[in-house]
Amino acid sequence: MADKAYHELCETLAKRRGRYPGKDIPEFYALVEELFTKEEAEVYNAVPKGFHPAETIAKGLGKEVTEVTPLLEGMADKGLCTAGSMGGMTFYGAPTFVPGIFEFQFMRGTHTERDKKIARLIRAYKAAVDADQGPVKITYPTTRVIPVDEKIQTENAIHTYHQVASYIQKYHPLSVSTCFCRHEAKLIDEKDDCGNPDEVCMQFGMGAQFIIDRKMGRQISKEEALAILKKSEEAGLVHASLNRQDIDFLCNCCACHSIILKTALAQAKPGLALNSGFQPEQNGDLCAACGTCVDRCPTDALAMSDGAGWKVDLDRCIGCGVCATGCDSEAIVLVERAGVLPPPVDQKALLEAVKAGQLHGESGHGR
Ligand code: SF4
Ligand code: SF4
Repeated sequence: MADKAYHELCETLAKRRGRYPGKDIPEFYALVEELFTKEEAEVYNAVPKGFHPAETIAKGLGKEVTEVTPLLEGMADKGLCTAGSMGGMTFYGAPTFVPGIFEFQFMRGTHTERDKKIARLIRAYKAAVDADQGPVKITYPTTRVIPVDEKIQTENAIHTYHQVASYIQKYHPLSVSTCFCRHEAKLIDEKDDCGNPDEVCMQFGMGAQFIIDRKMGRQISKEEALAILKKSEEAGLVHASLNRQDIDFLCNCCACHSIILKTALAQAKPGLALNSGFQPEQNGDLCAACGTCVDRCPTDALAMSDGAGWKVDLDRCIGCGVCATGCDSEAIVLVERAGVLPPPVDQKALLEAVKAGQLHGESGHGR
């Protein structure tokens, strides 16, 4: 029978919510007893919402700060809590499972026996939660696609939040780490490899500093970040992040492994559940009918047309621009898609929008 600290951890993670909250099932305890020691579970439970110095967390536990600080430091190294410095003081936070703890486990890209065990335990927990809850119904997109901005037709209004490069220019430091979705799959089955580049997950600003400090990734220059973007676009990966204007990470997603794309593709209309605010349009009569764009589209939104060129199914199109980057004839441009709201400004605005639960142009349904 699980210790009281792990039962409380289940309740804490249930309150913190996220894609996989705490659930009182055997798969939860099998996983957390591997991830957390009992003392670490007690510390996690004592971290209030937000970011706090070790003194506050120790006070809540009724323990000395000298006892709690090494535990918090060890947990940050293991990706069980977050840590960041401001004004010479370190602040700690308790992240959700997803996004947060699950991803941190695989960002180093290592292949130890413990990595493999954790990957199997996480996979089992996710499967048990999915089976219990049924398919996720997205009522408001919590994630968004960021288009390949150089393919946006020049007459369109391009905001900085449409441009990944603008985040790269704005933030310091920048870091890159291993794609946790593809790495988790390979840890479970080394043959489950789609061949896409792995070291393409980027973090910006304070998020990057945490990843660098805890050796979950490495610091990169702005030039290298732009080169990673280019490499991802050539491979047909989709730029995605939280549906906010102030993002601190960027995933480069494949349809076969990415939790963001797979969740969207499981919806009746993926193009409403995940979107960039743009859609492809034929650029004059340049199309040579080669079919490359159809093959590259990660959501099967394109089909060759009986007439000239291709046609797009907007219920499936997420506006990524992968079709356009693969077209040697420059026959595709991205144009603004009607009825898509701008991303919420920050996390608070995103949470309010999720509460209101309205999909673009469609009534929301309970999640
Ligand atoms: S890749 Fe370009 S040329 Fe080929 S079918 Fe698509 S739009 Fe036409
Ligand atoms: S048609 Fe496919 S590849 Fe092109 S923007 Fe839409 S989802 Fe992306």
